[in-house]
Amino acid sequence: MAFESLTDKFQNIFQGLKKKGKLSEADVKAAMKEVKMALLEADVNFKVVKQFVEAVRERSIGQEVMESLTPGQHVIKIVQEEMVRLMGAEKTDLSFSPKPPTVFMMVGLQGAGKTTTCAKLAGLLKKQGKKPLLAACDIYRPAAIKQLQVVGGQLGIPVFSMGDQHDPVDISKAAVAHGVQNHHDVVILDTAGRLHIDEAMMEELVAIKEQIGPQEVLLVVDAMTGQDAVNVAETFNGKIGIDGVILTKLDGDTRGGAALSVRAVTQKPIKFACVGEKLTDIEVFHPQRMTSRILG
Ligand code: GDP
Repeated sequence: MAFESLTDKFQNIFQGLKKKGKLSEADVKAAMKEVKMALLEADVNFKVVKQFVEAVRERSIGQEVMESLTPGQHVIKIVQEEMVRLMGAEKTDLSFSPKPPTVFMMVGLQGAGKTTTCAKLAGLLKKQGKKPLLAACDIYRPAAIKQLQVVGGQLGIPVFSMGDQHDPVDISKAAVAHGVQNHHDVVILDTAGRLHIDEAMMEELVAIKEQIGPQEVLLVVDAMTGQDAVNVAETFNGKIGIDGVILTKLDGDTRGGAALSVRAVTQKPIKFACVGEKLTDIEVFHPQRMTSRILG
């Protein structure tokens, strides 16, 4: 798992706090300065860092903490609690439509891991007893359709495709109709991404969303891209409206910025974390567990 350098830094800060008996306001201030530096170096959004540090500081200089026998431990606990809160406090489950099939529309930039994540999510749902259908709606990236068919095949999940000569809105509609006919309770749409956000891509995604009315629009973002991932999330949310985020590549050399900022900036929950290239490398995102990983 990533976050090693951030974890090391927090461990050092916590050691320093634990060593002290009584804490002065200046001690708390100094520790918060270190926390701030650590988070900024981990590429956490500046505003998020400011609010986080302020919340921890305010709670830490309260009488109850300062006069306790172990103020250092109290401050550490406050950091933990605020970090959990920053990432959404509780896990957020997917919602399912009362009238199947539930449609999940997956969006994101090319290379973020969207196609892989479609399959991972389908695999996870299949394990839970659902009968998912994958739908290949990316007609632009060479080999995207083939890739979805390959990963779907590995999981024993059918893939709906109409090739690359049809309009993605029509493909999405036909996929849902195919899902109804074949008693699928979930349809996952793998939509097109580009290397950068552009108008044509957004218009296409808006059209699919309007015509299909998916239960959830899930944005797949590469956690390794740090603050860029957060900017991408903000833009997609503004232009299309998203219901949740799936962070990928949390196994890589990520500094933690995206995981810590995305919820606070977009107000949308992180629903899953992907932690490797294998099709089973997907986990439900738990703010509490992620905090433990980050803080060590
Ligand atoms: P798309 O263009 O967004 O559809 O991206 P792909 O699904 O083709 O994934 C791009 C690359 O990222 C592939 O090489 C994937 O194996 C890799 N990838 C996707 N998710 C993860 C992840 O969680 N961890 C790692 N290490 N690699 C991933």
